[in-house]
Amino acid sequence: MQAPSLGGVQVPRGNGSTVIRLRHGSSLNDFADKIDANPASLVTVLFHLGEMATATQSLDEDTFGTLATELGYVVEMVSAEEEDRELLGAFDIDLDAELEGEGDEDLFPRPPVVTVMGHVDHGKTKLLDAIRSTDVVAGEAGGITQHIGAYQVRTEHEGQDRAITFIDTPGHEAFTAMRARGAQVTDIAILVVAADDGVMPQTIEALNHAQAANVPIVVAVNKVDKEGANPAKIRQQLTEYNLVAEEYGGDTMFVDVSAKQRMGIDELLEAVLLTADAALDLRANPDKDARGVAIEANLDKGRGAVATVLVQSGTLHVGDAIVAGTAHGRVRAMFDEHGANVTEAGPARPVLVLGLASVPSAGDTFLVAPDERTARQIAEKREAAERAALLAKRRKRISLEDFTQALQQGKVETLNLVLKGDVSGAVEALEDALLKIDVGDEVDLRVIHRGVGAITQNDVNLATVDNAIIIGFNVKYAERVEDLAEREGVDVRFYSVIYQAIDDVEAALKGMLKPEYEEVQLGSAEVREVFRSSKFGNIAGSIVRSGEIRRNTKARVLRNGAVIGDNLTVESLKRFKDDATEVREGFECGIGLGSYNDVTVGDIIETWEMREKPRS
Ligand code: GDP
Repeated sequence: MQAPSLGGVQVPRGNGSTVIRLRHGSSLNDFADKIDANPASLVTVLFHLGEMATATQSLDEDTFGTLATELGYVVEMVSAEEEDRELLGAFDIDLDAELEGEGDEDLFPRPPVVTVMGHVDHGKTKLLDAIRSTDVVAGEAGGITQHIGAYQVRTEHEGQDRAITFIDTPGHEAFTAMRARGAQVTDIAILVVAADDGVMPQTIEALNHAQAANVPIVVAVNKVDKEGANPAKIRQQLTEYNLVAEEYGGDTMFVDVSAKQRMGIDELLEAVLLTADAALDLRANPDKDARGVAIEANLDKGRGAVATVLVQSGTLHVGDAIVAGTAHGRVRAMFDEHGANVTEAGPARPVLVLGLASVPSAGDTFLVAPDERTARQIAEKREAAERAALLAKRRKRISLEDFTQALQQGKVETLNLVLKGDVSGAVEALEDALLKIDVGDEVDLRVIHRGVGAITQNDVNLATVDNAIIIGFNVKYAERVEDLAEREGVDVRFYSVIYQAIDDVEAALKGMLKPEYEEVQLGSAEVREVFRSSKFGNIAGSIVRSGEIRRNTKARVLRNGAVIGDNLTVESLKRFKDDATEVREGFECGIGLGSYNDVTVGDIIETWEMREKPRS
């Protein structure tokens, strides 16, 4: 159906619910393609809607939304995951169909993957160490384990030899980072709570993250060796968060442990396996090309790109062509957490992989491709897609400068900040000062995360999720984080003077507040005589009665107390024959009001301007 549109151009219209699916990073050209329109006419329509864009520029979802609503369409942005699925589809790789096609006979039990979370100093690292040391295999290998980002332990459970995989980065940061990238790695979370300290802010944060991801929790009540330890209190406290101990009739397993004395570790592993068996159906098909997630990666001087991957299904072999995120290559060698060479790795097995041409990011999914060429092409296509999405995102995320606009459009009412500093004193001082900024009730300032040290991937991930701005005081980016911030379009600002940071935030917050204007009277003049000028129209020969008359200010004309002309401008101002910028009370002048010529002797010319009302 063709109908006249904004700007008089012809654009095929939808019926109000016609769905247009667009990828992130799409341009008006792509939109035009979908509705069979001329891109130039969309540029025109958008222009009439108050947005300027070229046909090839990447636009964000909101802009497409505005345009689509006008034309009777509904825009659906294709998610990054869907987009990747389509991309893989072009190479005949269909992961969903693959999963659906797997019957009971293809699926074999696999070990659970566990992340240890909890408040700082409650013993997460110590607990991971204690668990590692229980491993019989590690014992045989001389007890030396290397940090590769994850490890597997074996334990005897109900007469069976069972394995459990642990993510070797304690805390919910890694967990959130993975989730921010769409990867769900963890099957079970161990929530560590120190029995001498109780439930603390990060305890709650951690359990929120786990519950949001639908990951069952096993509670490790740690430090029970300490005087003042009160394990019963922990059970009591956690009931408030829907974690009710089995002995209280709930379904969460609580295990008392001492990471330091390595007590209760076997019971904890037992609880993990019991929870896994009761709540989850952990099975995978080992007999296919491997699929999984990169957990850690870095560039090693001697060995090149080194990545620890967790195989989630299938089996990874030396020699396989793989693609992890935008990195690709052929598996040259694999090592386990004991540094031993391995030739294959099945489901839930973490291995260190050599042979990628570049370094993937933690949380990137990996898969084995039919051949190296395909792996490279997938990687290249992904990189192109990421670049396009980046271009669109750059316009979208919040920066201190564009806060005002976002607020006025009702898109934000809270300025979320992540604070990082070189020492905790500085971070606290900064936070204190920032929270003292008085901005009234219309906007909120929230510090969603604070910490000491370089700006990390976690900081950027948090900022991405909560649309926050990162403030770094005397710190820098951690390795490779700048790229991530750039990619995600997060505004990161660095300061070395606290007041500078406060000033900037205050300015943004004040800017965020819609400015209030008031009319301020500047002066008034009485018209004594009217001169005709061919060049300037009528000139009102006047005497300034109060204040001053200034050129280029707003003016109105009053006759017998009534306004007869308003919103005029003092376009010319003369003192005798000379141009003047201002003429003060008691002096005579010639005032020209542009094309407004209806002034007569006795009229009063008032001048005024709009001033932003200062905030108290
Ligand atoms: P994280 O910040 O949660 O990783 O905590 P750490 O593992 O670094 O432990 C913090 C502190 O608590 C360290 O000084 C540990 O030695 C101590 N700690 C950890 N577990 C225990 C325990 O079971 N008993 C005692 N007494 N101290 C512990």
